[in-house]
Formats: sequence, C-alpha cells, structure tokens
Amino acid sequence: MVIDRINFLKDAINRANYEYYVEDNPTISDFEYDKMFAELKQLESENPLFISPDSPTQRVGSVSEKFFPYKHKYRLYSLDNTYEYEDLEDWYKKIVKEYGPQELVCELKIDGLAMALTYEKGIFVRGVTRGDGITGEDITNNLKTVKAIPLKLFEPVDIEVRGEVYMPKESFEKLNEENLKNGEKLFANPRNAAAGSIRQLDSKITAKRDLSMFCYTAILTGNVENPPKNHYDSLMYLKKLGFKVNPNIRLCKNAKEAVEYCKEWDEKRFSLDYATDGVVIKVNSFAVQQELGFTSRAPKWATAFKFPPEEVTTKLIGIEESVGKTGAITPVAILEPVQLGGSTVSRASLHNFDEVGRLDVRIGDRVYIKKAAEIIPKVVKVIDDEEHYKLPEYQPPVKCPSCGSELHIHEEEVNLYCDNPDCPAKRCAKIEYWVSKDAMDIDKIGPSIIEQLYNKGFAKTPVDLYKLSMQDFMQLDLVKEKSAFNMYNSIQESKHRPLSRFLTAFTIRNVGKETAGVLAQEFSTLENIQSASVEELSKVEGVGEIIAQDIYDFFRKPETVQMLEELKSLGVEPALPVQNISDKLKGKTFVLTGTLQSMTRDEASEKIKLLGGKTSSSVSKNTSYVIAGESAGSKLDKAQKLGVIILTENDFLSMIG
Ligand code: NAD
Repeated sequence: MVIDRINFLKDAINRANYEYYVEDNPTISDFEYDKMFAELKQLESENPLFISPDSPTQRVGSVSEKFFPYKHKYRLYSLDNTYEYEDLEDWYKKIVKEYGPQELVCELKIDGLAMALTYEKGIFVRGVTRGDGITGEDITNNLKTVKAIPLKLFEPVDIEVRGEVYMPKESFEKLNEENLKNGEKLFANPRNAAAGSIRQLDSKITAKRDLSMFCYTAILTGNVENPPKNHYDSLMYLKKLGFKVNPNIRLCKNAKEAVEYCKEWDEKRFSLDYATDGVVIKVNSFAVQQELGFTSRAPKWATAFKFPPEEVTTKLIGIEESVGKTGAITPVAILEPVQLGGSTVSRASLHNFDEVGRLDVRIGDRVYIKKAAEIIPKVVKVIDDEEHYKLPEYQPPVKCPSCGSELHIHEEEVNLYCDNPDCPAKRCAKIEYWVSKDAMDIDKIGPSIIEQLYNKGFAKTPVDLYKLSMQDFMQLDLVKEKSAFNMYNSIQESKHRPLSRFLTAFTIRNVGKETAGVLAQEFSTLENIQSASVEELSKVEGVGEIIAQDIYDFFRKPETVQMLEELKSLGVEPALPVQNISDKLKGKTFVLTGTLQSMTRDEASEKIKLLGGKTSSSVSKNTSYVIAGESAGSKLDKAQKLGVIILTENDFLSMIG
C-alpha cells in the first residue's frame, strides 16, 4: 500500500532529521537521505491526499532545545535539489517560458550550516542558526569567535546576511585525529564537525575549533544609496562590506553554462580546502526572483545540483590482512559493493590495526566510507547502533597470513610486521612496488603475473625480472605470445629510468617519491648518493638526520651492494642526468599548487629543474615562489601567511620566457 510506504519514509526521514540536525550524528549518508526524500516527494505528488503538514517535505530542518530559540524576522528556506543535469535544464526552461532568458549565478554549495547574521549600523548584534527556517537558535556568542565573521562592517548599514559556517577539511581531519587520541566521538564529515563545534554551550570550545564562513545572501533592512539590483551585485556588495564571499562564483548566461560549471566543479571539488556537496544555481534578477517566489520549503528561483556522493554507508563484510613490501600488515576493509563517486567500491583502507581498534570496527558493521580525488576510499566511521554492540570485537592477527611467522611491532611504530625475509607475500609486494607507476613504471606486469612468476620460481626479487626471457612468460597461465612480448618489452624499456625512479623503487625506509625526487636533483648520480655522508645527506631539504641515516645504512647493507652489482651487470642503470639548459632559476625553490592550464605540475617541475631551479612539496620560509594554479588550497594559504611570493601560471611562463 502506498500509504504504508509514505509512512515508512516519513518516519525514516524524521528520524534521520533528528540525528542530523539535533544530535549532529547522522547514521545514513546524505545520498541515501536524498533518495528517500525524492521518493517521498514523488509519492506525495502522485497522491496529494496523503500529504500531511507533519511530512518532512513540508518543512525545513529542525530546532533543538539546546539554545535560546529566536524567531527569524525573514524566513530561511532550504533548496530543492537534484542529482540530474536534465532536471536543472527543465527548471530553467520553465522560467524562460514565463520570463524569457535569464542570467544565472552559480555558487558552490558549501557543506556547512546556514546562519543568519544581523548587523545594526554596521555592528554585529545577533547570529542565529537556520533551525526550522522560522525559528533558529541564538548562538551569537559562538559566532563572535569565528574570525571570518566581521564584528564591524566597512559601512554602517543595517543588514541581515546569510551564509554557511563550515570547517576546513584539514581542521576536520585534525579534530578527528585528536578526538581519536582522546577516545572522544568522531565526526562523520566536516559538516557535522562544524555543527558540533558551532552549537557548543561553551563558546571557549567553539573558539578553539577552526571555523569559517562564506556569505551568500544580503537583505538590506535599512536605506542605502544605490542598493544592489541583482544577486551577483549583492555578492560583490557583501565583499565590499567585509564579508568572506566564495571566490568561485560565476555569472552564467543560461542553463548550458550552468551545467558546464557543475561539471567543472564536480571534478575540481576535491582540490578545495572545504567540503562542497554541489552547486547552487540562482536566478540573477531580483525582479524575477520576486515574481517566482517560494514553495513551502524552498525558493522557486534557485535550485541545487548535488554532486555524486563522496561518502556513503555500506556493510563491512570482512577485514583482509594484507602484507606490504616492508612486511607491514595492513587491514583492508572488504565491503558490500556500493556506488561512490562514480565507481563501485568493494574495498577500503583501514590504515593500521590501531585505527581498527580506535574506530572499533567489527565485521558486520555498517560503516561510512569516503573517497577523495585519487585517494583510495577509506572507512571513516562506524555506525555504533545497537547492532554494532552485538557483534564480536575484532582481534588483530598474531601470525603472518602469508607465511605464518609471528608478527612484531617495530619500535615507535604502530604497524604489525612480518620480519621473515622470505615471506612470499612480502616478496611479491616488493616486486609489485618496483613495477608500480611511481617507481619503475613497468605497466604490463600486474599482481597476478607477479604471483605466478614467484610461485613458479622465476622471480623472487625485482632484479630477477631483468633475467626473464619471453619463454618464461609463455609458461604462465593464459599468457600468449603477444602479451609475453609486451611484458618482456616493458621490463626492457624500464632499464634506464631516471635516478628518482630507482631511488623510489629501492624502498629505502622513509624515502618516498618526493624525497627520491629531491635526492636525485641534489646528487645527480647513484654513485654520488652511495658515497654521500650522513651529514651531506641530511642537508637536503626534507631529509634531516634520521632519514639521512636510513639512506646511508641502506647503501651499506650487503644485500643492497649485491642488488646494485647485479642490476649493473644486467645493464639496469639510471639514465644520465639531464643537463640544465641554463642557470636562470639557480638557487630558487618552487612549490606548485592547484591545477595549471597549459601543463601538468610534473611538466612545470621538469621545466624548473631544466633551468637549474628546485621544487619542493611543502611551503616553508625557504620557498622562493609558490606557483598557484586554479583551486589552490592550503599551500597557498601558508604562502600568504609566510609572505612567500605567489606566481600565477602566466607569471611563471613570463619568468621562464
Ligand atoms: P540542503 O543542504 O540540501 O540545501 C539548502 C542549504 O544549502 C541552505 O540552507 C544553505 O544552508 C546551504 N547552502 C550552501 N551553500 C549555499 C549557497 N551558496 N547558497 C545558498 N544556500 C547554500 O538543504 P537542508 O535543508 O539544509 O538539508 C537537507 C539536506 O541535508 C539533505 O538533502 C541531505 O543531504 C542532508 N541531510 C542528511 C541527513 C542524513 O541523515 N544524512 C538528514 C537530514 C538532512
């Protein structure tokens, strides 16, 4: 019966609303919530007799009893939303039909909490949460601790300003790390962390949390000369008054341009230092906005396009104990397959067993998983409902799942290690790392081929790869002549990779791709690094004494000496360093951040090196320039703080001529 489904959805949504708005502790993802909400709306529109005033489709948010309620002078609405471009185009078409072509303002939808700020004669007097749109919570004192909120404006105007209080992603990660350490509650995402921080009864706690605010609505409550006539101008006006307005707003001529903006930001959103869950598209003209008006819960002149989810919930069906190249055993979550950020995810990282313990992950739990650009999905939170506590606690392994050796914790580390040098899984992982994209980039050899090569006794170490013949490959399962040739060939092609790749592939303790790059830049040849003293090595940026000692020790181990000799005898040696074309950038260190238009960051870095300059991955007072592409994030902020010179891509191109 339809009514049963409607009642079920109403109950489920109301429960989710309470957990989300009042407890700041959602147990379903936004995507699941939106799916239920859309279904309820659809059923109600087909059966209007079943619409009741208590339906969540007729209301906005919720008010808690934690703070003093405050009745808004001007109502705060929610937004209609869609995950489909087509709906966005249909919404625009309907408006055009009535009012002709319209300019649209596209803004990132900041995933935070809506606030209404009141200023009298330019002085901040009150800050209230959206609540249910009619009544909110008065949290003025807490909002006064948010540095992005001006306490006094540049002009003495009477105005109500709306915007979104949010927590930058980096601060959210830090807060959760601290909470983990102190055994406190973890926040599911930056929005919940912002909500939990801004709605603290003690303002001192709020002040310690790094919160910020982007403003997007201005309601002038007194008279001003030349008030803004459209939405875009009002955003510029807010900026002029001293508010933080998101820099990525765009005035679009039509829905097609708005869709382009949505597509662009769907890709670029991960590079931002704050969470955005979509794009808000608003009719620019105030006159048309007024004509269009509102429904019971949202303006008709605006709509939100939501990005495919970055975070979903699913069931954890197992924990795989995987052996890495160093023998470290890492837990990997095996999940009930779920759609996330455009792909199906069935595995996610759990980092280490400490993390498993701290998250209290149990097999059978429902968990939140999250994906950021190019990063493997990770389990961020367990839903600690009744079911969770009925499940047995997870016990970390005591023996290596591959060779059965006893596992140990190395000093000052959290990982469990298998110290057996002949552990098959560890040996295969070393070869896998050697062929990987960041190391020697031998793209035709994958994990299952490596396992076969190992099991047949053809390759026990990366060096053995260079001893293989075409015939060896032909003996592997399902390998025909053509693929045998391709595999053989891709190994041969890797024999003279640049020094930085060799240094990465060696798996020297504490030396990853970045450090390998800096070492190669500094020492040019393998021989120079081999003979360098700890002191010389520690002078390299980002190396320091401990890593220098690790590198020094590595090159003095008998097995390293043997490996290097064998590689040499097989004709496997780093390519000769590329000569600088000039010394134009000598002594200058660059940090690249954001997306460049005319080249990739790797290409820019190559150019810098050819001109004698250096690149580094982090900004410090020794950085000469930061090249900031589009959507540059925290590195740009740090550069500004330290007063490092910031170059745009064009500045850089002019600099290098
Ligand atoms: P919403 O978040 O979908 O959209 C409206 C809000 O967007 C506004 O109130 C404002 O706060 C915000 N916003 C951000 N940037 C903006 C901009 N540039 N211009 C205008 N507004 C901007 O709607 P909502 O009513 O706040 O919440 C409903 C949503 O919250 C649901 O769609 C769902 O994603 C989530 N939710 C999740 C759960 C859960 O259990 N996971 C429960 C309740 C709500």
